[in-house]
Amino acid sequence: MYLKCIEIDGFKSFADKIKLDFDMGITSIVGPNGSGKSNILDAILWVLGEQSYKNIRAKESSDVIFSGGKNKKPRNTATVSLYIDNEDKTLEIDDEVVKVTRKINKKSENEYYINDQRCRLKDINELFLDTGVGKSAYSVIGQGKVEKIISASNKEIKSIIEEAAGIKKIKLRKDEAIKKLSKVELETDKINLIVNELE
Ligand code: ATP
Repeated sequence: MYLKCIEIDGFKSFADKIKLDFDMGITSIVGPNGSGKSNILDAILWVLGEQSYKNIRAKESSDVIFSGGKNKKPRNTATVSLYIDNEDKTLEIDDEVVKVTRKINKKSENEYYINDQRCRLKDINELFLDTGVGKSAYSVIGQGKVEKIISASNKEIKSIIEEAAGIKKIKLRKDEAIKKLSKVELETDKINLIVNELE
């Protein structure tokens, strides 16, 4: 699995639609200060479901929409799509290329898509769980991230190791199952009470 291409339209400094193709191996993005290199990383994190605007260097959700510039009007929406090569089927989807999209409008309404089909943020999170690519995974190492990891709490380090070991998905499913089980136990207690009263 690798990132084949990113399309950015109206996100941060990208007023117009741009498409960047990546090959396997190392790609370097170079450019003058303030030309938008880090905005590309922010776009990747954002489409992966980043909810903390601080992590993508914005103050509020609508900050990610192009706010106008030299001879360019502000945009009303921002859209980012990642095209991921999935030939090795790392992502549990049959397609060889998986397209993941996030859109936002001025009202801060977010939409998420997998292969152009509307989905929930939860679906995006689950798709990338245990692949090392999720928004909180270690595949995007931005400025200051290494220091953050070094000074992370034991709980945070455990979570990074769990993601790398591929057991986070199982743990999440276990937690969900435990929650459901306690709900069922509660309902069973209620039913038993009614049965006892009736007997
Ligand atoms: P450096 O090399 O200094 O780290 P960089 O190439 O990584 O710079 P970025 O930090 O990606 O640059 O881009 C910063 C630019 O993005 C600034 O000029 C800023 O005005 C612009 N920018 C950020 N958000 C928006 C927005 N919503 N609308 C328009 N421009 C924006």
